Amino acid sequence: MPVDKKSALHRLLLTDSRKLRALRIFDPFTQWWSITEVRFCVVCERPFMGRDIRFFGEDEFPTQFECPTPGCQGGFAEWKHPRLHL
Ligand SMILES: [Zn+2]
Repeated sequence: MPVDKKSALHRLLLTDSRKLRALRIFDPFTQWWSITEVRFCVVCERPFMGRDIRFFGEDEFPTQFECPTPGCQGGFAEWKHPRLHL
């Protein structure tokens, strides 16, 4: 029976330092210096801090990242430095 990989993912509650490390590893578009840095999501048009991102994964290893706005499908490709949108 095939296993649905995505259904095995669950929300992870990580410490700020682990969140920052994961963002540094997985975000291919922007550099994260601090977990309190602000990004602007162009999908829901809202700013948020790095620590507000929803982290999903198996065990305690994050593999999927979602915008903090409920229902928003924004991801790294949609998260920009806010100064680019002033
Ligand atoms: Zn969003």
